[in-house]
Amino acid sequence: MTQPSAPKKKLRVATTSLAGCFGCHMSFLDIDERLLQLLELVEFDRSPLTDIKHCGPCDIGIIEGGICNGENVHVLREFRKNCKTLIALGACAVTGGLPAQRNHVGLGACLQEVYHYSLGVENGQIPNDPELPLLLDKVRPLHEVVRVDYFIPGCPPSGDAIWKFLSDLIAGHTPRLTHGLLHFD
Ligand code: SF4
Repeated sequence: MTQPSAPKKKLRVATTSLAGCFGCHMSFLDIDERLLQLLELVEFDRSPLTDIKHCGPCDIGIIEGGICNGENVHVLREFRKNCKTLIALGACAVTGGLPAQRNHVGLGACLQEVYHYSLGVENGQIPNDPELPLLLDKVRPLHEVVRVDYFIPGCPPSGDAIWKFLSDLIAGHTPRLTHGLLHFD
């Protein structure tokens, strides 16, 4: 495995979860004690791991989850605008993933099923508060909305795969996932 050497200036990394389940972030944390090594090399901008609300200029943006609503589109565009390299992390970001199963049902039918016909629901209403982001007609992968530089498949990708990928990238190499690290489930 490539061992990155410490750069003079720390790279800035932002991460976010859009229509994801946070499983890819959990897998990121599965790099375990190597997190300390990573923190020698990078500092975090906007991320569920920090309290930064907006993505500033960054070297690397890592996004889990596809795009299911208007807010997702807004955040994705903010990341694309600010991150030199944008990574789609996990099946949801790469293809829409399991949440994209709703594309076969249709948004109206899906909302009706949940808010009107679910077991135990009586006089249910589809939420319509303007504070809530509007759902898109379909769940979409990131690359249908912005340009994506790298894709890491897997649901989730393993911590070892994420570590190898980031190590290569930080060391200035083209990231390569060898056979054992590349999977799609
Ligand atoms: S790829 Fe899998 S683990 Fe990652 S956000 Fe999607 S459902 Fe969760």
